[in-house]
Amino acid sequence: MCGIYTYVGQKAAEKEVLAGLKRLLYRGYDSWGVAGLVDKRIQSVKEIGVLRQTKPLGFGLSHMALGHTRWATHGGVTQKNAHPHLSQDGSLALAHNGIVENFAVLKNDLIQQGETFVSETDSEVILRLIERALKNQHHWPTIFKQVYDEIRGRNTIVVLTRQGEIWAVRDGSPLVIGVGQNEIILSSDTMSLPSRIKKMIFVDNHQVVGVNAQGKLSIYSLDNDQKIKPKFEVLHRAKNVINKDGYQHYMLKEIYQSAKVVKQVRQMINQPQLDQAAKLVSHAQKVYVIGSGSAGVAAGQIAYYLRTIAQVDAVSLIGADASSYLNLFDSTTVIIAPSQSGETADVIEVLEQARAKGAQIITYVNMPGSMMTRLADVSLMAQAGPEICVMSTKVVLSQMAFGYLLASQIAQQSTKADRQLQLLATSLDKLLKQKKWLRQLKTMAHQLAYQNHIYLLGKGRSYSIIKEGMIKMIEGVYLHAHALPAGDLKHYVIAIVTQGTPVLALVSDLSMLRDVQSALSEVKARGAKTYGLSFTDELKADEHLRLPHLTQLTELLGLVALQLLSYYMALELGNNIDKPRNIAKSVTVK
Ligand code: GLU
Repeated sequence: MCGIYTYVGQKAAEKEVLAGLKRLLYRGYDSWGVAGLVDKRIQSVKEIGVLRQTKPLGFGLSHMALGHTRWATHGGVTQKNAHPHLSQDGSLALAHNGIVENFAVLKNDLIQQGETFVSETDSEVILRLIERALKNQHHWPTIFKQVYDEIRGRNTIVVLTRQGEIWAVRDGSPLVIGVGQNEIILSSDTMSLPSRIKKMIFVDNHQVVGVNAQGKLSIYSLDNDQKIKPKFEVLHRAKNVINKDGYQHYMLKEIYQSAKVVKQVRQMINQPQLDQAAKLVSHAQKVYVIGSGSAGVAAGQIAYYLRTIAQVDAVSLIGADASSYLNLFDSTTVIIAPSQSGETADVIEVLEQARAKGAQIITYVNMPGSMMTRLADVSLMAQAGPEICVMSTKVVLSQMAFGYLLASQIAQQSTKADRQLQLLATSLDKLLKQKKWLRQLKTMAHQLAYQNHIYLLGKGRSYSIIKEGMIKMIEGVYLHAHALPAGDLKHYVIAIVTQGTPVLALVSDLSMLRDVQSALSEVKARGAKTYGLSFTDELKADEHLRLPHLTQLTELLGLVALQLLSYYMALELGNNIDKPRNIAKSVTVK
């Protein structure tokens, strides 16, 4: 995934780049590095771990620097593998975001031809290829073209040269240009740009960007070397959104924004895009909802609402496993793609292939201007505000609430849906302030945090919700969690239920009570410790956490409760909550 941040301007570049990289940390934090142009030489500093540097890097007043924060894909987390990578003669520094899928073959060939490598990364293969191209060529769009003809996969590359130029090419992972007064910034996202930057350019796939020391910008097509006129856009941003507002972690702050997020979804009722999306879905013969990670479980819930409220035959797919459906996509297909970042590589690949087959695409994304929104026929924005914690919480809620609204719009029940969403927002507000309920939740978190395994049971409208609970417990608590439909438990999972095994069930409407209760009784009989999360005391469990009852959408209260439960479990263990081990937020690699 990685974050790339490059500064050219009159300010001290190292300070700008360090600050920018800190704002990109959600993209990966295995290691970091900055290369700066100092007296016509490139100097670099690279370290393992999260960027916490507060001291100067020693680049003095250098006005040009390139930084990178890494999420390792090829090669361990070592200083040598940290970016930027320097060319053998020290005349270039390279930062890379992506995966060179054929790197092993290329590296082998290069070694045969006498090349040597310092790191284990695929990125250094790109550097060797650039060095070779540079022997006969100095026009960067051509150099990049030669390199792209060799490498496979999606790769965004930024290079700093000793001649005082920045050259970049985008394919896959995002790249934006922030344009200020005598300064140009290249970054992986718009959110990281300083508030003084009011103008920006989205770099499209297969565009090459050059910036010289005077800040002169040029853009070319990678495919045909044609110059491209920059398309400036105004950068709209909410002020001071990136702070914890007194909460201990961003995750907690973002969970406490749940009611606000639901209110934002309600605003969509008046947007023409909702109606356009509803029309597309109702006329489609095949509807697939596709997402990855938490957005993958949100996709499950959206499909559930479409089936049960709007009688649409919708199926949810996980981005990384959708390929067997490709031959079913055609012009009668509609795909709905929820994503926080709008840059999820697994999903983008499916969307591109689906589009080529004539399918129509609806996206529901939180990050403006992202790749997915550009692939969409109808693009709806979550407008949930920046989500800084690497684990997604409020955006998952937003995605599910959107699914409910879309299904209701198709079923011509949007007035009723509006009321239900309003009730949900009010209940969330109240629930998250209830001291007694929070105490009970924390007690449950304390009991569960030290377990090695947990089984989560749900059914129907609560099935995708418990899967989201599972994801949060795995990524934030590092607990082996397993979510399954309550009725399936007896078919296999029961074999590993022994004395004290924790089993948590979510019941969000009466129709599922009997099945879930049976499953709980079956595991109880084998010594399990049972936990119930429900609006009714009729669910019998050793420990019970009560949820308010809503006519519809009680399950979304359960969603927030499970997110908060996971938060307190992670807190109990002292985990790095906003930046959990090994994961990154915007998964732009496959
Ligand atoms: N493949 C490169 C590395 O492992 C870049 C990783 C990325 O973009 O996530 O260093």
